[in-house]
Amino acid sequence: MSELVIQRPEQVAVPVRGQVGRFPVRRIYCVGRNYADHAIEMGHDPSREPPFFFLKPADCIRLPGQEFHYPSMSSDVHFEYEQVAALGCGGRDIAAGDALSCVWGYATALDMTRRDLQAEAKALRRPWDTGKAFDGSVPISDIVPVAEIGHPSAGRVHLRVNGETRQDGDLNQMIWKTADIIAYLSSLFELFPGDLILTGTPAGVGPVNKGDHLEGSIEGIGDLSVKVV
Ligand code: MN
Repeated sequence: MSELVIQRPEQVAVPVRGQVGRFPVRRIYCVGRNYADHAIEMGHDPSREPPFFFLKPADCIRLPGQEFHYPSMSSDVHFEYEQVAALGCGGRDIAAGDALSCVWGYATALDMTRRDLQAEAKALRRPWDTGKAFDGSVPISDIVPVAEIGHPSAGRVHLRVNGETRQDGDLNQMIWKTADIIAYLSSLFELFPGDLILTGTPAGVGPVNKGDHLEGSIEGIGDLSVKVV
């Protein structure tokens, strides 16, 4: 490759549970309103409309053990706790029946959201980027290989804030299952190894404050512990 004119940006890579090697991240795709009870709490009809997507840059990730820094320009930052599918292969127009074979592992992550800026963007019909894709907006757990845990289709999705349960759902409540999401997404974008997909959040989303301790767990996948500073 020819010489670069500035320093190469660092490759974001997430630790893998039980392995020395790390998982390099290419893109972060996020699914909106994928649990009926969350769609209702956000004021929407949860009937099975096609999934919709937004993206976050890979460097939005906060690795396990890192703190979440309360972002600028917002006074209403929300947690959304989600299952993550980490792709080990990709392609275009992947059939739903083949889609899970592209998942290398799973993780759990927070889709942190500047809800006030997102609400303003919705009202003005502007993009969601400032509400969603801010620095540090994806605190993530270790990735766990499919070789160890298979493909969990059910399991408690539980988030506590300062010891108190705030989100308590189940992976089996997802409107669009992981395979459906990959199939649909691959009709819109060519997917590649290293892509992460945040698959939506159950009900109970709410604001965080500096000093809060967020503790998440998704049964069969793993845990996440994040301090808000
Ligand atoms: Mn979300």
